[in-house]
Amino acid sequence: MDKRKKNGLSETVRRYGKGRKSFFYTTLLFSAIYGLSSILPYYFIWKIINALVRGAISQSLDTSLIVHYALWIVASQLIGLIVYFIALASSHILAFRVEKNIRKEAMAYVLELPLGFFQNHDSGVLRRLIDDNASKTHGLIAHVLPDVTGAMVVPICLVVVLFLVDWRFGLLCVSGVAIAFFNMATLLQGSARLMMDKYAQASESLSANGVEYIRGIPVVKVFNQTVESFKRFHDSILDYDKHAKNFVNFCRPAMSRYTVSLYAPVLLLPLLCIFLMPGSVQPVELFVKCLFYVMIAILFYTSLMRTMAINEQLNVFNVTLARLDTIFSQNKMIVKEEQKKKEEGIVFENVSFTYPSKDEAALKDINLHFEKGKSYALVGKSGSGKTTLVHLIARFYDITQGSLRMDGKELRNIENDELLKELSIVFQMNKLMKNTLRENITMGGDFSEEEIKDALEKAGGQDILERMEQGLDTMLGTKGTYLSGGEIQRVALARAFLRKSKVLLLDEATAYADPENEEVIQQSIKKLREEEKQRESVIIMIAHRLNTVKDADQIILMDEGRILEQGSHKELMERCETYRKMYEEFTRSIEWRVKHA
Ligand code: ADP
Repeated sequence: MDKRKKNGLSETVRRYGKGRKSFFYTTLLFSAIYGLSSILPYYFIWKIINALVRGAISQSLDTSLIVHYALWIVASQLIGLIVYFIALASSHILAFRVEKNIRKEAMAYVLELPLGFFQNHDSGVLRRLIDDNASKTHGLIAHVLPDVTGAMVVPICLVVVLFLVDWRFGLLCVSGVAIAFFNMATLLQGSARLMMDKYAQASESLSANGVEYIRGIPVVKVFNQTVESFKRFHDSILDYDKHAKNFVNFCRPAMSRYTVSLYAPVLLLPLLCIFLMPGSVQPVELFVKCLFYVMIAILFYTSLMRTMAINEQLNVFNVTLARLDTIFSQNKMIVKEEQKKKEEGIVFENVSFTYPSKDEAALKDINLHFEKGKSYALVGKSGSGKTTLVHLIARFYDITQGSLRMDGKELRNIENDELLKELSIVFQMNKLMKNTLRENITMGGDFSEEEIKDALEKAGGQDILERMEQGLDTMLGTKGTYLSGGEIQRVALARAFLRKSKVLLLDEATAYADPENEEVIQQSIKKLREEEKQRESVIIMIAHRLNTVKDADQIILMDEGRILEQGSHKELMERCETYRKMYEEFTRSIEWRVKHA
């Protein structure tokens, strides 16, 4: 990463420009030629002034010579245009290839990341991270690269010209730049850097609080609060105002000194000319040189400004690459070959797991055997680790300690595609794709019309299909075809009915469902469990309602990341006080609900 930071452009081209790398060198070469061609007109203007002044003195103006130089100016401009066009065309061809490969590589990389990455990274943010930075890279390569060598070559050539034509004028021009840069260097040191950091921090916090404020607008409206209630945003505006003013006030004198020392030589050149005139053998020549220096000095300063601007753009480029690195630095899932153990089902052996963002383990020393053809219900207080345990089976994250196996093979050594083929997942946050109802149920699998309809019916989604104007081929998410939370869950259940996989992971999610939906969902979950049981699948369910788990083969009671007890409903009622209390409380709450309904 460091290497890439130091040499961002060429490293990026090396990595992503496959098949188009030669365009990098073409662009640089033509950029340099363009830079040189932009100096040529000044040289010919100087020649014209020379001819004019000499003509005026000798009173015989050689117009053909002036036309000759003028034609050279036109020719150099034309050559410049053509060369710049070639540089731009090459840089664009390269930029498109780099952008395409960044997108491809990033997407391929992301697909190999653990599912937990997607839990912690919003899909919109991820899309922006890839999209924005890939197109920014494109923009920078396409539009900045054609200027890079030109911006370096021009000032160097001009320094040579400045000293070659007349070193005294040259020294004056260059000393102005040296003083200006010295001023700039002092500006960027010590307390100024501190101020700049504070200013940057204030700007960042203003933008972060601004986003928070906009997100909170609905709350402000609903509760009729005033803008002042967003104190943090208000404070950050004042803070930004203070630091921006401090910084600007501090920079003003130094920036003035910088600008004055940069441009003062242009004013001092005529004075130097007057000073040198008495001792000069060719005073006319000296005068013309002075005019030339005024022109070239301005060109020199503007070219330096351009070089600094390009440098700034290259810094932006490195920031863009560093952002992309946030994706490429995520740990991929590694798959190793291993000898399979002779066992069936899912086995947790001394498994502990700590979330990357936490210090305390979410699961501690778990030992469990989920056997084929049996159903398991995970129960326990919120935060006891039920979801984490199920997420580990779907390899959202890799375990931090112990061994987690499926059919005798370490989970981390099963290819992600293979693993996901074995699992049917119905979680709380089911998502639909902007695609047809059919695709949302089959998820790309090859199923007949009958099978799909049958699965949807079993999931209690008959009414969804009846509502759709174009049946299974209706696009979801467009006008009039939005599905409610409960309906989305039924589509997710239909997916599970279709898949017929080895393991069913079920979060008895009813949070988004209304009472009618809830009943339908409960019925179809029951049906799904029965069907899976007949097929000898492992069924693991996170239960929120204890009446639905009574008939599970094993109930696993969890508490603070550990297994407190395990057994059938009957066994737990007899021997586990915590479970008994939980069940009684649950029954009471049901009775209360029925009474007050
Ligand atoms: P349950 O499903 O029983 O409510 P969870 O498995 O969701 O419990 O949570 C177990 C513990 O792990 C809790 O302390 C919770 O705060 C933590 N936790 C859950 N998800 C994450 C996550 N994505 N990142 C960090 N900590 C998490």
